[in-house]
Amino acid sequence: MAENLIDEIKRRQLELLRHQRLYHADDAPEISDETYDQLARELEGLEARLEPTHPLKRQSPLGKVGSNPRSGFATVAHERPMLSLANIAGQASVNQFGERLASQLELKGSQAQGLRYAVDLKFDGLALSLRYRAGRLVMAATRGDGTLGEDVTANVEAARIVPLQVNENNSLGNEFEVRGEVFMARSDFKQLNADQQARGEKTFANPRNAAAGTMRQLDSSIAALRPLRFFAYALLGGSPGTAQQLSTHSQQLDALKRAGFPVCDIRCAEASIDQVIAFIDRAETARSDLDFDIDGVVVKLESLTLQEQLGYLARTPRFAVAYKWPSEQAMTRLVAIECQVGRTGAVTPVARLEPVRVGGVLVTNATLHNEGEIARKDLWLGDTVWVRRAGDVIPEVVAAVPELRPKDAQRFVMPRHCPVCKGVLERPAEEAVWRCVSGFSCSAQRVQALLHFAHRRAMNIEGLGDRLAEQLVERGMVRHLADLYKLTEVDLLKVDRMGLKLARKLLDEIANSRTAGLARFIFGLGIRHVGEKTAKDLALFFGSFDALRKASLEQLTQAPDVGPVVAQSILGFLSTPALLAELDLLLECVNLQNSASQQAEGVAVNGPPSLFFGKTVVLTGELQSYSREQAQAIIESLGGRVTGSVSKRTDFVLAGQNAGSKLDKANSLGVTVIDEESFLGALKPTERDNELFNKL
Ligand SMILES: [Zn+2]
Repeated sequence: MAENLIDEIKRRQLELLRHQRLYHADDAPEISDETYDQLARELEGLEARLEPTHPLKRQSPLGKVGSNPRSGFATVAHERPMLSLANIAGQASVNQFGERLASQLELKGSQAQGLRYAVDLKFDGLALSLRYRAGRLVMAATRGDGTLGEDVTANVEAARIVPLQVNENNSLGNEFEVRGEVFMARSDFKQLNADQQARGEKTFANPRNAAAGTMRQLDSSIAALRPLRFFAYALLGGSPGTAQQLSTHSQQLDALKRAGFPVCDIRCAEASIDQVIAFIDRAETARSDLDFDIDGVVVKLESLTLQEQLGYLARTPRFAVAYKWPSEQAMTRLVAIECQVGRTGAVTPVARLEPVRVGGVLVTNATLHNEGEIARKDLWLGDTVWVRRAGDVIPEVVAAVPELRPKDAQRFVMPRHCPVCKGVLERPAEEAVWRCVSGFSCSAQRVQALLHFAHRRAMNIEGLGDRLAEQLVERGMVRHLADLYKLTEVDLLKVDRMGLKLARKLLDEIANSRTAGLARFIFGLGIRHVGEKTAKDLALFFGSFDALRKASLEQLTQAPDVGPVVAQSILGFLSTPALLAELDLLLECVNLQNSASQQAEGVAVNGPPSLFFGKTVVLTGELQSYSREQAQAIIESLGGRVTGSVSKRTDFVLAGQNAGSKLDKANSLGVTVIDEESFLGALKPTERDNELFNKL
């Protein structure tokens, strides 16, 4: 046999052993579960090439479920081994599982279809075995290596996560074993880490490590203080006569719940294979919204009799499998931190990572938000870091692993000059973010401003994407936003990958945007704190850009939802000479008076402004002529705004019959109250009510 194969196997066995120890005994894994599985599979492949009797096979770490118990705890032999489950993934594998069971039970056709399953969430914590005698907890043990675990009874008692004594009137019997998972809720974990940090103590990479680390503390006063939780997921044993009444897994869980054990309610009982698959889909969608981590689901046969009949393989039961999703957290290396300049000049540090698969997606970058966050997480260049990506959330760097920090790792220093224009960065004392204050003369900000201006919800210039915006700015074709409207075919054809057809289409889009309307224009300017909704409100309230431009701070704050911060931001924008120059150039290019576009924005354009124009209205009680939705639509079409609660900012309260507390509040605040008759009267001069009503 090749000498190097033996060496390779020895090397890999040691490596795997080390990771097993890190995971199970030290609660400080260095690699993700997926990477571990990959290493294990590779080793398995190599060991398969050995003679069956080869001594290396006997000493293989493969198949040793957990780890040797950590010294310091008494060792407990499990009455029944704590097995692990075979892992499956993908919808087809669920069907295969069902088919395999049917064939092993020699069931065909409708009998096979009739098999029923229980599906439980697979909690990401530390597995525990709890033994009860005469209804009293007598032993709590970790899984350990599956045969021998650690006695953590004192910690479980201190943590108060399970009943220490169950009342006699239960269906569990006198002697039984409960298995379940001790874990930490995500919200509790966050708080714990914040507290640990405030005390200058070690923080945890994830809730699993925090829960496992707590359960393995020799001082049980720590478990008493930390926010641990527990879900029971299996019942074993049980005295004859009582437990026999329970014939399915789900009935067992119900009985555990009745006896006072925490059981997760998100589960599925008596399910067909199709229902199992549907449940898995739902659970995967809900996964990131749960307050605790799960890494999959457990699918098992409901019938305890059939479970018994199928029995066990060497290390796994035949009647159950773990359906696993890709891990939401993985370890990788922080290669560099680069700074990006946004539209408002905000400089955001971004982590460049050694590519790693997280949540099934290859991740190479993660935002670090700001300088303070890097300091808080103590991230150094070259560090090994945990990266998390849950659901559709942008990947984030959770924590560094300081134990693995290389000697040449370097602290990150936030630059004091813009990485793009070399201008000075400033940071107001109360803010976390550094900003390049060069404004439009910073090409990074010009590119972002251009993209924002052209955005679908702003001026809606289709085809003006990242690459094009960068080139237009880099080539000096767009020094001011208004230059966009001076572009010619000849200009555009100088741009990479631009053909005549595309250039013409783009010029059409740009020309059309001239009449995009006031609200889109205001939003497109990219004034800080002025989002799409505020821009619409401002357009409705002021009616013209000129009116907005002349508005005082006081007038601005009278607009709906505009507080002092937003108002100051608008005033600041409108009093910055460079921005005003931009604005004047732009205003020459766009036509904000265009009625067609304003109609599309819902602005009243015919005749004098209505009674409701720019006003805030609250509806209460019942109207005879219109439903509440219809009345709201009418008021909004007349340039008014309907809100839910009465405040000093409310201009009118429209009170129908049986008006309640809102009317009282309006009276106490001195807000003008109008009844239905006045409302209808106010509509009449516009002669629009019928027309509007027909549209509803
Ligand atoms: Zn800059």
